[in-house]
Amino acid sequence: MSTVVTTAVPQPIADLESDGLLGEFPEGPRLVGTLCDACARTMIGTRTVCSSCMGTDVTRIALPRTGELYSFTRLHARDSVRPLGYVDLDDDVRTLADLREDAGPLRPGIRVELHVDGDQWWFAEASESVLEEGA
Ligand SMILES: [Zn+2]
Repeated sequence: MSTVVTTAVPQPIADLESDGLLGEFPEGPRLVGTLCDACARTMIGTRTVCSSCMGTDVTRIALPRTGELYSFTRLHARDSVRPLGYVDLDDDVRTLADLREDAGPLRPGIRVELHVDGDQWWFAEASESVLEEGA
């Protein structure tokens, strides 16, 4: 006689509604975020579940276009060098992002702003006008 043992294996719950991080908002193209209506946590991406409290009352929002460069590195490929780093957006969201150095040299702690061209997006050193907006 044999006994069949079935074990319930927990399955991961998909909390991201889509992989696309760029969205159109009244203020222009921005990274898409989700605000939890229950615990006020802000997350990157369009989520159906709060990563913090698992609540499902969430709202799609535009993330700020400015932040601070936390850290960066350069990926050396066969034909190119690609700066990549963590940006701390002004609403406490940290995201891994492509970086460009055409607006100024990269250093941890500098103010950076989002740039969008088609479906491409990256962060570069913030311009004077953006810095004055935040003042
Ligand atoms: Zn929450």
